[in-house]
Amino acid sequence: MTTPRVEIDLGKITQNAQCLVRRLGPRGISVTGVTKAVCGHPDVAKAMLSGGVADLADSRVSNVIRMRAAGIACPISMIRAPVSHSIEDVVRCCDTSYNTEIDTIRKLGSAAREQGTEHHVILMVEMGDLRDGIMPEDLNDVASRVVATPGVILKGIAANFACMGITAPTVGDMAMLSRLADQVEAKCGPHVALVSGGSSANLAWALGQRVTGRINNLRLGEAILLGIDPVSGQPIHGLHTDAFALFAEVIETGLKPCSMPKRPEAPKHGTLELILKSDYKGRSVLAVGQQDTDASGLTFPSGVKFIGATSDHLVVDTSDADMSVGSEMKISMNYSALMRSMSAPDVEKRVDHGLQIDGAVKGAKPQPRLRLV
Ligand SMILES: *Cc1c(COP(=O)(O)O)cnc(C)c1O
Repeated sequence: MTTPRVEIDLGKITQNAQCLVRRLGPRGISVTGVTKAVCGHPDVAKAMLSGGVADLADSRVSNVIRMRAAGIACPISMIRAPVSHSIEDVVRCCDTSYNTEIDTIRKLGSAAREQGTEHHVILMVEMGDLRDGIMPEDLNDVASRVVATPGVILKGIAANFACMGITAPTVGDMAMLSRLADQVEAKCGPHVALVSGGSSANLAWALGQRVTGRINNLRLGEAILLGIDPVSGQPIHGLHTDAFALFAEVIETGLKPCSMPKRPEAPKHGTLELILKSDYKGRSVLAVGQQDTDASGLTFPSGVKFIGATSDHLVVDTSDADMSVGSEMKISMNYSALMRSMSAPDVEKRVDHGLQIDGAVKGAKPQPRLRLV
């Protein structure tokens, strides 16, 4: 097997999606599966759909094209405002896009009319994250312009939390989004069908509240893929946190000084050898680097500690772990490490369909050549 590689357990992704869909459904909240962290990997997208997500969303049109090419026909939304050169592709591949600029929306409308179709628009509202979003006081105005634009249909409004910032949405924030939906309806006429409350950062709110107001959708990536609440960094009860693992090979191991040794002087006490030994630690070098992942977002097996990384090498302290050259280390990734690994061309992505991996029955011992640490 090649390294570095990401192994993906699709069954766990399906179960995570299923669990969230079941918990949010009774609160009137549908789940949109967000695939950007896996670059629109079609098998992961299908695993989310098997778990019952209502639809999918991604932030790059190239990822959506990849999913369409793999035969995924469900509604897919573009959650980043489309860049100008992608307008036609967005209309062709996505049913819906999230937008903040009326000029872009007008271009989407023209492209839709040229393609003989209609494109759905969701207006992203600024609610404190200070990334993309229309200021709430401008929302009615933009919404009326969207309603007047041929080729597009105003489908809903949405908010973003804890993407740029780190604060989770409050009950007050979510109540305000509900009020904004009412306001847009009162001013512009059409029913605001979708009120998308945010991302995995909103789960604590959505699962804690009995009254969710008009919020009827969340866009979930991290919670489904990693089972983690991005605000607290803690695992979400009942979800798998190990659907993905990164494997890298040890290419050097041994004892090395903690800092570069100076030319040794004659020791006052003990022998030179003893002094050097006490300063030496077990170190290993892995063939994976910043080009393949976000080294600061990795968690290593017990006994292994991160020391540093360059573009192609990762150095770990292995004083408390048994290492040998050629063995593989299994490493877990946070969202940013996952996103980087899934988009890195030199990282193999191996999908476990729950049946077989390359002829080896799942659950069978790893090949003797490869020692997992
Ligand atoms: C990435 C993203 C999401 C999903 O965020 P997670 O933290 O992965 O759940 C939702 N909405 C938008 C606009 C995004 O960019």
